[in-house]
Amino acid sequence: MASNASSRASLRSERQIPTGRVGNGSASARTKSVPPKRSATASSLRSPVDPDNADPGRVRVAVRLRPRNADDFPHDSDFTSCVELQPEFKRLKLRKNNWSSESYRFDEVFTERSSQLRVYEAVAKPVVESVLAGYNGTVMAYGQTGTGKTYTVGRLGKDDPSERGIMVRALEDILASTSAVSDIVEVSYLQLYLESVQDLLAPEKNNIPIAEDPKTGEVSLPGAAVVELRDLDHFLELLQTGEANRHASNTKLNTESSRSHAILAVHIQRSLKGKEEKDSSSLANSSDNFSSHRVPLLLKSKLLIVDLAGSERINKSGSEGHMLEEAKFINLSLTSLGKCINALAENSPHIPTRDSKLTRLLRDSFGGSARTSLIITIGPSAKYYSETSSTIMFGQRAMKIVNTVKLKEEVDYESLYRKVENQKKLKEYEASFAEFEETFSMKSENLEKENNRLELEIRRLVEDLNNEKHQNDLMSKEIVHLKMSLNQSKEQQLENSMSQNILADTTQMYGKKIEELLKQLEDEQSRSASLEEQLNEMCQQLSDTQNSLQTQENVVDELKKELSEIHEESTSQIQSLKVKYDELFSEKELLYEELKSMEEKVLNEARQRKSLEEEVLKLNRALCDNSVELESKGPYSMTRSASGLSGAVFMPRSVKSRETISGQKDTISKIFEEVGLSNILSMLKSEDLDVQIHAVKVVANLAAEDINQERIVEEGGLDALLLLLEASENTTIHRVTAGAIANLAMNGSNQGLIMNKGGARLLANIASKTNDPQTLRMVAGAIANLCGNEKLHVTLKKDGGIKALLGMIRGGHSDVIAQIARGIANFAKCESRSISQGFRKGRSLLIEDGALNWMVANSTTFSASTSRHIELAFCHLAQNEDNAGDIISSGGIKELVRISQVSSREDIRNLAKKALNSNPVLLAAAR
Ligand code: ADP
Ligand code: MG
Repeated sequence: MASNASSRASLRSERQIPTGRVGNGSASARTKSVPPKRSATASSLRSPVDPDNADPGRVRVAVRLRPRNADDFPHDSDFTSCVELQPEFKRLKLRKNNWSSESYRFDEVFTERSSQLRVYEAVAKPVVESVLAGYNGTVMAYGQTGTGKTYTVGRLGKDDPSERGIMVRALEDILASTSAVSDIVEVSYLQLYLESVQDLLAPEKNNIPIAEDPKTGEVSLPGAAVVELRDLDHFLELLQTGEANRHASNTKLNTESSRSHAILAVHIQRSLKGKEEKDSSSLANSSDNFSSHRVPLLLKSKLLIVDLAGSERINKSGSEGHMLEEAKFINLSLTSLGKCINALAENSPHIPTRDSKLTRLLRDSFGGSARTSLIITIGPSAKYYSETSSTIMFGQRAMKIVNTVKLKEEVDYESLYRKVENQKKLKEYEASFAEFEETFSMKSENLEKENNRLELEIRRLVEDLNNEKHQNDLMSKEIVHLKMSLNQSKEQQLENSMSQNILADTTQMYGKKIEELLKQLEDEQSRSASLEEQLNEMCQQLSDTQNSLQTQENVVDELKKELSEIHEESTSQIQSLKVKYDELFSEKELLYEELKSMEEKVLNEARQRKSLEEEVLKLNRALCDNSVELESKGPYSMTRSASGLSGAVFMPRSVKSRETISGQKDTISKIFEEVGLSNILSMLKSEDLDVQIHAVKVVANLAAEDINQERIVEEGGLDALLLLLEASENTTIHRVTAGAIANLAMNGSNQGLIMNKGGARLLANIASKTNDPQTLRMVAGAIANLCGNEKLHVTLKKDGGIKALLGMIRGGHSDVIAQIARGIANFAKCESRSISQGFRKGRSLLIEDGALNWMVANSTTFSASTSRHIELAFCHLAQNEDNAGDIISSGGIKELVRISQVSSREDIRNLAKKALNSNPVLLAAAR
């Protein structure tokens, strides 16, 4: 029954009661210093006639009844409500039993149906708005565990925004009313448990100390994390993190959230620039001196939203005698809060705020300078009558507390100046000004910090000035009153001479009082003047600082410009380098591909070469048997060439052999066609001696053909052969290589190359080292061929070629001697031609190396062809006048005569005769 009545009452009340009765009319009471509110709503606009708003600084207390829940129905007992609400009268009736009940009045009474929005708008919104206007504010929930403190204050309402509690709604309003550009909104979220402050945003921070500014008395937690908010989602995230940390921390400490206090601190810093500019137009007229020095000012304020620990513990923990430590600490804070509230409610001179951390943190919220709203939460069940009753008593006491709400906004210097000008009577100003001066000197180190402090100081001074003005007004009234009394007295004096003396005394006394007051006024005036002077100085300093700031800003601008130029330049450089890099990279790619295909080619060729080498080896083995057999058979044929007596050395002579050799030649040309010259030549460098030997043989055979000679040299064959001659120790190599060189030396242009490349020296070296007749025959043949080029004669002699040729006579092998004789004949013939053409003079180089004596001694010793060569050589030597002496002295003249008479060849006979006849010395000696 009772509960039905109560719910009907609450329904009625919700319709009738205007929103937002908690809070105060401070906005109207302090319109001069409070800036215009951006998001003012009906709830924040208080009627000045509202009797509840008589005291703007009083702590506003609302009570909220939680709806019934399962906990209210223990076992099978019936539910009994002990609470009856009369929201229209802002009354709550607490029934002790059927016979007695008490009625209490609050600033607002919320039924169990009141919405979160309504509770917020009535309890917290006025505080939030006053915080946005620069005042500090506190919203706090107090009540027994389970009565809805956290529901009211901390609910996130993630799924249903209408469920959002005070914290989320407050931040929603704050973020909507502040500028993301010029204002800063920061939050800290803390838990106070066992007298230890824990950071719910940074759980590793434990036991954070509380600091108090000795000057302003402001309480802060310098160790706590302060997070600047981006938006509401960011805040919801932080709250969630905080809740998770709170849960984790409480699990670790083996406690519940109901035993700790959760404190959300919101720090707001707003820039007042806009307001200043707006106000400046009205100020400009009254104080031209200062209108040009606008100082951007900051409005700093703090909002605390506190979810207190369950209030039942105040009563229980001590009496139950357990959890001593916890009782001592949890309740130390909560008990101490109760004590402070009591002391404040009773206007006690000592408020024990220092007794606990909670009361230190909330020092400002009760009896301090903040605007404070308290919501007490209760359950309906009679079961908890005593807890509900003590909660209500707490609320009742809190309602008596009056705070001196202070605006933390500073006044600009112009308005201060004006006020100082206008308000002449100032008391206690001197002391305040001294403090002000001291603050100013401290501020010279850090200008911004100094400004803020200075602004605060000025704010206080302005308030003092206001007070002074008020007092001055009172005093003026008193003076008027006194004057009136005096007049009355004078009138009375006229009427009643009896009272004249008394009146005279009174007049004298009042006169003195007036004099004193006038003197005081004068003093104040002079103090005002000096204050004015100091203010002027301050303004000057401020303007200087502004100027220097301007200069620095200019420098920064220039540097920025320079930086951006450099940046642009480097960007373009990087761009062009990038393009270059790309080009090089693609070029590299191409080259890499080319390289790869080349590598493949080389590999293929190497493989091909290998197989060819094997084939050549096979072919050569077959060939080898034949050629070795042929080579050993005897001297080589001689052919005529344009350069004179020259011939292929590496070729068989007999008819039978010729047939064999033509087969062999076919084989060689087959090899040549299939393998290719360059491959054959490369085999000269083979590591395998067998391959080397066969390759030299093939090259020697090829070199016998006129058409191959030049090509072999062109493709580096000559170099390879000379290298073999020099480097190899193998006699077969020596022999066949010498043969190959001999064949190449048949070609006139090759002869010069062989000489230039030191061929004569190498041949001479081989000739001196070996006694193998076959090798000697090849070497002799090679030198003999070189003898057929008169341009090479001098070099040939110098390189020891002629000496080597004559030296090979030593073995007495007829084949060798035949080549020697051919060489001598070649040499003599070409030399005589050169001398007759006038290219050279002097006696024959042959004679110098001793050829003549051997010729004289052996002209008839050897075969017919050898003898014919010797005879030819005689004839040619005799052509040169300078040789005449030697021919005569060596006995060669006799041979010459013999040749002219008995040589088997007619052309030689004629040649000898011609020589004798053309030279009178010889002719004379012949006779
Ligand atoms: P406290 O923080 O005071 O211990 P809670 O806020 O945790 O209490 O509330 C206890 C229970 O009651 C929770 O389940 C909560 O959702 C519910 N509750 C509290 N107040 C209300 C309300 N006004 N309307 C609906 N449910 C409420
Ligand atoms: Mg709670």
